Amino acid sequence: MRKPENFHKIDNQTLKIGSQIVMIDVCKEGFFVTQNGGNNHWNNVILFEMDWEKDQYNIKICVLGEGTDGWYLHEKLPIPKSLMRTISSFKEFVVANMVDVTAHVDLTNIEPYMAGETNIDAVEIKHNVQSSSGPITYIVTENTGGIAGEWNCTCPAYQYSKELPQTCKHIKSINT
Ligand SMILES: [Zn+2]
Repeated sequence: MRKPENFHKIDNQTLKIGSQIVMIDVCKEGFFVTQNGGNNHWNNVILFEMDWEKDQYNIKICVLGEGTDGWYLHEKLPIPKSLMRTISSFKEFVVANMVDVTAHVDLTNIEPYMAGETNIDAVEIKHNVQSSSGPITYIVTENTGGIAGEWNCTCPAYQYSKELPQTCKHIKSINT
């Protein structure tokens, strides 16, 4: 879909998530949702990256004052077009998403790169995988950094992988 013409009108709109008032701050990537007063000071802001061309959006948990640095809670969610029509329906969209965010993330805490649902007790496993084109061995890491389901490989294809999450044939050979 095209970016709604009146998208800028949601800038500085406030809305209520439970008892918390939040504010919308439109930016180049989409918009931020920030805490507006209240107790339990949030150390995070939530970035909604709106990809209007692909009709998808990402929800990123960013650190207050650190711009767009952060980690993704959700990626490539479909943009519900019907809710993009008016300011009040757009607010419904934000509220529904923020209820989900606050259910999964403690926004008062800075937990970079860790989703609330993630099992951080997972054990890192290293696999040696022989390169198919030479005598090189690549190291595939499973549960990278103790995060269940996080994969990593030392090969160049992984480093330059454009897939999300990044991957390569070595990871795929093990993670089947
Ligand atoms: Zn690889």
